Amino acid sequence: MAVTATVSLPVAPERGSALRRADVHPSDWSDWRWQLRHMLTSAEDLARVVELSSEERAGLAASDGLFRVGLTPYYASLMDPERPDCPIRRQAIPSAREAHTAPGELRDPLGEDSHNPAPCIFHKYPDRVLLMVVDRCAIYCRHCNRRRLVGGDDPPGLAELDAGMAYIERTPRIRDVLLSGGDPLLLSTRKLDGILARLRAIPHVEIIRIGTRVPVVLPMRIDDELVAALRRHHPLYVNTHFNHPAELTGEARAACERLVDAGIPVGNQAVLLRGINSSVRCLRALMRGLLRMRVRPYYLFQGDTVAGTDHLRTPVEAAIALMGQLRGWMSGMAVPHLVIDAPGGGGKIPIGPTYLVEAGDEWVTLRNYRGALVRYPQPAERDCAVSYDEVYFAGQPVDDDREGGPGRPDCHDGSGDPDDPDDVT
Ligand code: SF4
Repeated sequence: MAVTATVSLPVAPERGSALRRADVHPSDWSDWRWQLRHMLTSAEDLARVVELSSEERAGLAASDGLFRVGLTPYYASLMDPERPDCPIRRQAIPSAREAHTAPGELRDPLGEDSHNPAPCIFHKYPDRVLLMVVDRCAIYCRHCNRRRLVGGDDPPGLAELDAGMAYIERTPRIRDVLLSGGDPLLLSTRKLDGILARLRAIPHVEIIRIGTRVPVVLPMRIDDELVAALRRHHPLYVNTHFNHPAELTGEARAACERLVDAGIPVGNQAVLLRGINSSVRCLRALMRGLLRMRVRPYYLFQGDTVAGTDHLRTPVEAAIALMGQLRGWMSGMAVPHLVIDAPGGGGKIPIGPTYLVEAGDEWVTLRNYRGALVRYPQPAERDCAVSYDEVYFAGQPVDDDREGGPGRPDCHDGSGDPDDPDDVT
């Protein structure tokens, strides 16, 4: 991407300044810009808030040049200062194992770069696109699947953002736009408001989503000014990324509740991380805690095959076994979809325990969450066609299910008519 500064964020803390909560004036601590100005980005910074282990020091040295280190003082305040196995520390402080790429791991695990029909756009699914609006985050997560793009010094410029939004404007089958990055909530409120207003003016864009880790690592950013701007652009959804119940603080809760009170549904997309949240106890506490905060658990991702993260991934059968200890044992509203985001860009594939044991014409046999077998009678009639569809949907075009991607010149190079099915190559 071209280097054109659209968002100016500090990359290093002011040297020698206070980083521990107890040493910072409350008005500074609750100022999101102060938090960003004081991000911890080095072993020296981290050593001021935790007792770094030799493994952590080795990881910080090994990560140099691989993927930047950075987290807010707020998120650092959640760290256990004495335990390197602390789930907050393990998400933020690199391991030396990041330098090792395991077989099957990829720089671009989700195949986004081959679904990039316009600047700032990833278009993998028929009716939705991801618009990358910024490349900075308030934490650089060690499991990040977009580490090749975030944390650099190459933010999308105005011309690229404009080209991305122009692509959305000329592609009528896009119903759903996901603002991502990087973290869109690190943009100034004015700039974010402008992007949302332009998207909202596109008649075929039905919903807008924002993917953000700000409620987890920078909850003070969810202030009145931001919420007032966001609520102008309904229907708007926010999906955030809590991974551990230790992240469910009072401040995080207040941030999520401000969004929900503004009519913005908040979902959570957690990543299953081996040794960090890969226990039944931990996942149950996380999902229940989210529901109490009015955040709906949405996805639980099996770790993506991003280069240097083998040590953070969980065996698939272990992930499935964990899901078997969630569904049925707590409210269905607390149970996320366990998915593998297919390497190479094949999309999200749901996985989980098998509950259907046998299916016949007259009966099916099922296994319930306790392992008991139950039988369910099949209906006598088999035809499921809805004859009234002809009336209700009369005159409406059928869904346009064409895939996105650079192999479809009708939609992606502007040379064809995206509404003309005959124009599909
Ligand atoms: S906040 Fe999201 S984009 Fe940023 S480093 Fe973490 S996972 Fe990656």
